[in-house]
Amino acid sequence: MTRILFKDRVALVTGGNKGIGKAICTHLAEHGARIACGYGRDRKAAEAYEQEFSQKGYQGKVYQCDVTEPEQIVATVEQVVQDFGRIDILVNNAGITSDKTVLKMETADWQKVLRTNLSSCFYLSKAVLPHMLKQKYGRIINISSVIGLSGNIGQANYASAKAGLFGFTKTLALETARKGITVNAVAPGFVRTEMTEKIPPEIIQKTLDQIPMRRFAEPHEISRVVVFLAQEDSSYITGQIYGINGGLYM
Ligand code: NDP
Repeated sequence: MTRILFKDRVALVTGGNKGIGKAICTHLAEHGARIACGYGRDRKAAEAYEQEFSQKGYQGKVYQCDVTEPEQIVATVEQVVQDFGRIDILVNNAGITSDKTVLKMETADWQKVLRTNLSSCFYLSKAVLPHMLKQKYGRIINISSVIGLSGNIGQANYASAKAGLFGFTKTLALETARKGITVNAVAPGFVRTEMTEKIPPEIIQKTLDQIPMRRFAEPHEISRVVVFLAQEDSSYITGQIYGINGGLYM
């Protein structure tokens, strides 16, 4: 039987309709959390997930919200609080890539990736913080990437955004340390999702050759660490970065 770890807790997970975010929503819900599942453009995937979710008897709702739009974020957070009465856990998971070498990268590629992967985490954290401060309780988990630690050819925008998340995580952890709120980041290696389906086969092979475990992660191998950090008992862990990368970066 699954242990109830999140009785009466509400989690907002951005990009929860697929990939790593979906695994996080499912895993949190399995342990009793009520879920506000954010999504961007893919309404079909969100509706399919909502149906799957309610068939399993989990409690939750999907919310369309473009994480690059601060006003939409404020409205969504207010709606979630209206629907569920509180927000205890925020998982900043939504993210994109738009790969090109620096020489070929357009300003738009740079800005889009920085806005989606980094600025969004500032907007969302700022919007949920007043609620967490009032509750004197909160868990914020930012989904970064191994690329933020190592860099990667063709991903200056993505690496900068994900590295920026480390500084953001540590600073917000300091600012909230005495308020019952913890802030941590996870830095996954390569995970089997739509994001990595776009990688050309020859690059996939080269990447696999560099991963000591010789395989990509499955989304649930990331979500179990997020669930660990989101628990009430993980109360003395803050400002940390958890690498989950099959040994790719040590
Ligand atoms: P997917 O491409 O499978 O999913 C991305 C999610 O982000 C979707 O739910 C998408 O919603 C959402 N999203 C994208 N842009 C926006 C936006 N502007 N507003 C709201 N939601 C948006 O990615 P993964 O599951 O692979 O990645 C999840 C996170 O993990 C990302 O932050 C990624 O950088 C990180 N990561 C992934 C790794 C991997 O190998 N897959 C490795 C390391 C980190 P919709 O589809 O509805 O638009």
